[in-house]
Amino acid sequence: MLSRIGVHTSVDVLFPPSVLRDALSDVEPTVEIVETAADLDECDALVTFSYDESFLDADLDWIHSIQSGVDRFPFDRLERRGIALTSSTGIHGDSVGETVVGYMLQFARRLHVHRDNERRREWQFPPWDAPFTLPGESLCVVGLGTLGQGIARRADALGVDVVGVKRTPTPVEHISRVYTPGELQEAIADVRFVAVAVPLTDRTEGSIGADEFGVMREDAYLLNVSRGGVVDDSALLDALRDDELAGAALDVFETEPLPDRSEFWERENVIVTPHAAAANREYYRRVGALVRENVRRLDANETLANHVV
Ligand code: NDP
Repeated sequence: MLSRIGVHTSVDVLFPPSVLRDALSDVEPTVEIVETAADLDECDALVTFSYDESFLDADLDWIHSIQSGVDRFPFDRLERRGIALTSSTGIHGDSVGETVVGYMLQFARRLHVHRDNERRREWQFPPWDAPFTLPGESLCVVGLGTLGQGIARRADALGVDVVGVKRTPTPVEHISRVYTPGELQEAIADVRFVAVAVPLTDRTEGSIGADEFGVMREDAYLLNVSRGGVVDDSALLDALRDDELAGAALDVFETEPLPDRSEFWERENVIVTPHAAAANREYYRRVGALVRENVRRLDANETLANHVV
């Protein structure tokens, strides 16, 4: 039975800690905002965005990550300390799905260029053969979990033919063909858009690099909403400079925030968003529902939802 849940101030990246604390006011354990290592002393559970070494020294039973990606947590050491880690997968399908079809629509309808021109008060009709529409275009979604399925459902509704890649090649709704990771290059070779939605793991790190850009079509767009380390940023810049790709929409980068000197900022055919694909004013409510469910499961001695280690 938990007695005190801390809401770490790092959640502030996505919502004010107080709104989650207030949303959880009905759960049995006390819920308090914590900032320093000393504040952790009284807590047996922590809801957090960031990871800090001090979490290992506190007497925590459970840490909940408000992100779906948990690559920043040291799984082995958490396991050794007997601290359960849960993630927030399952809550980002609509926000990230809408962001990705937004990227596709921007590229197809040239909205990113019109917005750039507007800033300069330039009335410029696009080249006749630059704009296109989405019906009949094709998309490969790499990673078919919550994000991937959210993207696929929306792209399918816009008339795009969607294929995908995942570890277990079982059929997925809205996906006309599911490939295995070993077939990645075949899956991305003949599509207009490639959306990357896999977790950052030893297996996926750097898995979208020069070889993959080499097999992609020259009129293809890369859309990365996973983690920066999955895509080789410098190989991507090379491919963009050499016109091996038509463009890229990037929400995540090897270095975040994206450094001022990065060439990604300057390129007309690159859309940069600040790791905000999942941003949503309802975010705290969805995290609150996951936390509430796991408080119930802990009480009932059931397996935790979204259990990582
Ligand atoms: P899920 O766990 O729901 O889905 C992960 C998917 O990736 C599964 O379909 C899995 O396959 C597949 N996968 C894993 N390894 C590979 C591989 N080597 N090759 C191909 N597919 C693979 O996670 P989410 O959809 O919730 O999130 C995915 C990632 O996206 C997160 O880990 C996080 O890093 C990032 N993310 C980014 C956000 C943003 O704001 N930009 C927001 C949320 C998440 P299988 O189904 O076979 O297991």
